[in-house]
Amino acid sequence: MSRVIVVGGGAAGMFAAIAAAENGHTVTLLEKNEKLGKKLYITGKGRCNITNAADMDTLFANVMTNPRFLYSAFYACDNQSVIDFFEKNGLATKVERGGRVFPVSDHSSDVIAALQRALKDRGVEVRLHTRVETLLTETWEEEDGAESETVKQRVCGVRLFDGSELPADAVVVATGGFSYQTTGSTGDGYRFATELGHTVTEIYPSLVPFYAKEEYVTRMQGLALKNVRVRIRDGKKLLYDDFGEMLFTHFGVSGPLILSASAAIKPKLVNKPLAMEIDLKPALSFEQLDARLLREFDEAKNRQFKNSIVHLFPAKMIPVILELSRISPEKKVNEITREERQNFVRLMKAFPVTLDGLRNFKEAIITRGGVKVKEINPSTMESKLVGNLYFCGEVLDLDAMTGGYNLQIAWSTGFLAGSSIL
Ligand SMILES: Cc1cc2nc3c(=O)[nH]c(=O)nc-3n(C[C@H](O)[C@H](O)[C@H](O)COP(=O)(O)OP(=O)(O)OC[C@H]3O[C@@H](n4cnc5c(N)ncnc54)[C@H](O)[C@@H]3O)c2cc1C
Repeated sequence: MSRVIVVGGGAAGMFAAIAAAENGHTVTLLEKNEKLGKKLYITGKGRCNITNAADMDTLFANVMTNPRFLYSAFYACDNQSVIDFFEKNGLATKVERGGRVFPVSDHSSDVIAALQRALKDRGVEVRLHTRVETLLTETWEEEDGAESETVKQRVCGVRLFDGSELPADAVVVATGGFSYQTTGSTGDGYRFATELGHTVTEIYPSLVPFYAKEEYVTRMQGLALKNVRVRIRDGKKLLYDDFGEMLFTHFGVSGPLILSASAAIKPKLVNKPLAMEIDLKPALSFEQLDARLLREFDEAKNRQFKNSIVHLFPAKMIPVILELSRISPEKKVNEITREERQNFVRLMKAFPVTLDGLRNFKEAIITRGGVKVKEINPSTMESKLVGNLYFCGEVLDLDAMTGGYNLQIAWSTGFLAGSSIL
């Protein structure tokens, strides 16, 4: 039986603590906040999208960085195991659109309560207001063969910010990423990892809105577009192409499509100016849209252009569309040339926005980058550099799309770390 310290009382840390305690270890969970699961509380707009009910292939397909590293973790604790765990601990769940799993109550606080019950039932000691300052290690000599010996490092406890030290046989780092820092994820785990010789890859905000260059974008702030298609290019190279919902804001663009784009585009490119086209009428081809416009212009020949398009766009968009169309708003539709009309159709099929970099970590749902997974054993989550030291959750260089996949990463890696401790 080992003395286990888990650093961080988020999704990954709580699952690691529960799994380690289930195996009979003496577990202490250290959380610097006044309560557990502060980030969990705000997930899924306060409803907590616990996981996704999709099949295994879809789970892997929705992981953007290092999906193969997750093979053992996802199989050790898959989405159904997570659902079963919560059901067993008194939380009824339901599946919504896109396979998203939520508590029936629609309250993330109930998810946290279920985890707290499980921690208590397994005798995990939870210490709140307890911030770990650094990890303590010791060296030992391992006999390699007849003559040679290698000096190895293993973790032996933690030092807290008040200077006190807690001994441990194993330590699990579950300190989260660097986004929404008010919830406690301030990147401490990256420091712990580098101090002990690990590599931390460059970190980026992800699932985050973009700034836009054009002033007219900000004039449409608050406007949500449903059922549009968005294409994002770097020069001629198509980086992202998807359908869905987006939103104009006071700084640029947001909404599900845009957040997904921020996670799908390679980190090196996300902060370059990128050309985005919004297809406002994706159900119609260029030719179909042109024919429809021609028909409408024919039916009301004397109507002014500005009055002929009101039914085509949301009100907030009309002044911008008129401006970009370069057709005089007062012009009678029967005076509009074929070229003008076709340019207008082009505008509807490819409304231009220049993306001008990502918003910052404060608004990012996740952090892309983290502790390099090559230095972690994927079958156990133990560090390959420091014995008895485990990493799990967002502190690792892993991230996924929205839909419950990021929490699935936290549960699966947390479970595997906790249950691998000997
Ligand atoms: C607004 C928002 C909504 C989201 N919605 C969803 C969703 O619906 N579904 C989904 O799958 N994902 C969602 N996510 C992502 C998901 O919340 C995270 O991926 C997940 O919580 C990561 O879990 P974690 O345990 O690794 O880290 P965290 O949840 O960040 O937990 C880390 C914990 O460690 C503690 N800690 C840090 N440093 C120390 C230290 N030195 N000493 C002691 N304690 C420390 C922190 O206080 C914190 O409590 C959302 C994220 C945000 C920001």
